[in-house]
Amino acid sequence: MCRHLAYLGNEAAIASVVIEPVRGLYRQAWAPRLQRYGTVNADGFGVGWYPDDGAPARYRRAVPMWADRSFADIARVTRTRCLLATVRSATPGMPPDESAAAPFASGRWLFSHNGAVDGGTASLEGLAAALPVSRLLTLESTVDSALLWALVLARLDGGEAPAPALGSVAADASAAAPGRYNFLLTDGERIAATAWGDTLFWTVRPHGTIVASEPADDLPDWNQAPDRTVLVATRGRVDIEPIHPARKETA
Ligand code: GLN
Repeated sequence: MCRHLAYLGNEAAIASVVIEPVRGLYRQAWAPRLQRYGTVNADGFGVGWYPDDGAPARYRRAVPMWADRSFADIARVTRTRCLLATVRSATPGMPPDESAAAPFASGRWLFSHNGAVDGGTASLEGLAAALPVSRLLTLESTVDSALLWALVLARLDGGEAPAPALGSVAADASAAAPGRYNFLLTDGERIAATAWGDTLFWTVRPHGTIVASEPADDLPDWNQAPDRTVLVATRGRVDIEPIHPARKETA
């Protein structure tokens, strides 16, 4: 199980959000505290962030975050108002390369999936069948998370708002195949996230809002999202609601 984190707030160095916090993502790569599946997150990492204008930039690698000395430099000098970062523990059978490391991207969107589809992506065949072939052929990776991202993106492109799009895909995927479907999504202005099978926390601080798999420090202002909920965070505000189960197909 991976760990992921999104930040929205005052302009800050990537390092101050990702590397410096005492229990932050950098440390969670080898010492997560609340991880239920897997032990270390050493199969790659990724950060996506927003320049002052235009589409987000990504830096992804197939090595552990702590093993990339150049990333420490880039993170120290790159500043942003919004980022999405991940450390990866690859699900058995999933590809090991950089293209499987979140965040996945399209236009202004950045997306991450913390979890796995029991039975692998073949279990989602019914849902995938609704996607255009062109979309299936242009998946960024054969990792399960990339297929889930394509399902979310199809809803976003269809005009759905982030929270219902994430909630519907989590519910539909879970109805098709048991699994863990913690999603994290941002467009640079708001963050949406699901808790479905693994932990999710958020905190709203004067300098910014953080949504993360687990708290990045020991301050007492972290809130845990109940399982099977979806939240939307903007600067200074978090709204959270239950995800309604997918309706059963009737013959
Ligand atoms: N299944 C995804 C992968 O293999 C995510 C794994 C995770 O959350 N640990 O990368």
